[in-house]
Amino acid sequence: MGGRGSRRATSLIYKPNMKTYTAGSIVLRRIDLGEKDRIITILTREQGKLGAVAKGARRPGSKLAGASEPFTYGKLFLSAGRDLDVLSQAEIKESFPNVKQDMRAVAYGMYMLELTNQFTEERNPNPELFDTLLSAMYILESGTDAEITARYFELQFLDLLGYDPHFETCIRCGRKPKQGRLGFSPSLGGIVCDSCGITPSDVIWAPDAIISYINALRRAEPQKLKDMKFPRGVRRDLANILKWHIRYRLEHDLKSADFIDLIAMFE
Ligand SMILES: [Zn+2]
Repeated sequence: MGGRGSRRATSLIYKPNMKTYTAGSIVLRRIDLGEKDRIITILTREQGKLGAVAKGARRPGSKLAGASEPFTYGKLFLSAGRDLDVLSQAEIKESFPNVKQDMRAVAYGMYMLELTNQFTEERNPNPELFDTLLSAMYILESGTDAEITARYFELQFLDLLGYDPHFETCIRCGRKPKQGRLGFSPSLGGIVCDSCGITPSDVIWAPDAIISYINALRRAEPQKLKDMKFPRGVRRDLANILKWHIRYRLEHDLKSADFIDLIAMFE
């Protein structure tokens, strides 16, 4: 008679369906390995984020070349390896050609990928997060303003991960901020009214009209984003608030965010 202990030991060894599997996936990042191979970080709908080796992906004519490029959505055929899984075959579903022709869209697209990569743990599936990223990629591909697409994605993304900034009432006293200006404290993760905003040293002040833009962006149907108008000042305040809110949670900077700042300087 096998006791509880022996049964548990058996279940640890048995890995159902892990040898080879297919996964809907988005390539977040790639690193060249040696002369012919690539290591890719992918977000899969079924298994979350994981690393895989694309053997021979850099050989001329390799079928894995396109499929292992960042910002590619495909169905990947993988096999479980000791450290990294191995990509054996791929079926590209969308390579987002419009995005790749527009440097600004590429910059914001890469930013969304980096954000996803930095905030997710390996093998922790979140199908809703996968769908949110994929939708944002399609929104970008449709020619919607890249900056607005990124803000729309950030709000949804933060919400899904439980880091959504609090914009309804003052995070300190719970009162609605008076008309005029309001502060946003990245460390507190929300807005503070005029009287509570004096203490946190990191407060970013913005006109209170920012709230209506945030709410409109949060509730927007993806196909309506194209028609929404955001004045320059609102864009700047939104970018600032979300950037510092994210940096505070992530505790470091994002490389692609610096690149976006650089592009903005020339606009
Ligand atoms: Zn207050």
